[in-house]
Amino acid sequence: MAEGDTLARARLRLAPVLDGQLVTEFWTRKLRGHRPRSGQRIEQVRSVGKHLLIDFDKNLTLETHLGMNGSWRVYPDRQLARNDRKRFDPYLKVLIATDAGYALCFRAPTIKTFIRGNEEGALARLGPDLCDPAFDLDEILRRVARMPETTELIDVLLNQSVACGVGNIYKSETLHIQKHDPFLTIGDVTEQDIKDLFNKAAELLQRNSVDGKQRRSITPQKGFFVYERFRKPCLRCDTPISRSYRGTNSRSTYWCPTCQPKKVASNHAR
Ligand SMILES: [Zn+2]
Repeated sequence: MAEGDTLARARLRLAPVLDGQLVTEFWTRKLRGHRPRSGQRIEQVRSVGKHLLIDFDKNLTLETHLGMNGSWRVYPDRQLARNDRKRFDPYLKVLIATDAGYALCFRAPTIKTFIRGNEEGALARLGPDLCDPAFDLDEILRRVARMPETTELIDVLLNQSVACGVGNIYKSETLHIQKHDPFLTIGDVTEQDIKDLFNKAAELLQRNSVDGKQRRSITPQKGFFVYERFRKPCLRCDTPISRSYRGTNSRSTYWCPTCQPKKVASNHAR
């Protein structure tokens, strides 16, 4: 699943093949916007939250949003790229070739280009990127302060215009680590709680953004505390993990009712 760390890792894989290179072949299926051309130079690859951005010269940027199943793969070798292109043809969305190798994007639901400076929609509204070690926590707090106090913490964390990068996995895991019931609202917690939540989410995302490894590591055993562990025993207290589909877009939330009590925690000494 594509959360901010997935895109940060994709950027690390793509950069050696794309950064500073001339495009020798560009192919895409169903692109919205101007089309990059062979001979154009790629300035850099960026990841911002859940968006992967490839900056071409002439201010043109290709944006891919990977959704649930999308991926970028890199091939140093022409034959390997050709083999996968044939094998997975119905799923291929973008192919970019340079002298340094091939980058193929599969199954991405959104592929479009825009002129830099004209970002619109979700990309224009994105909050600070939690995968960036220099993210601006004060700006996040300003954005939280503009939300209704009745907004539940699950929807604060998932709202990419507050801070970007957190998806469904990190949402449940962060709330568990910070010992908050997921359905507490902004009005139920302190500003320090909000700070701690975003700092913890950023720490988890950045820890999983640093190299090409595919598997996320949240618990010491490299699994998850609560995500997709419905009815399994909590790793801390053995209580069966709960699940709910409350909140915007009815996304799943997992939590431990014992470790994450409904009442507001008054003890901040953790
Ligand atoms: Zn527990």
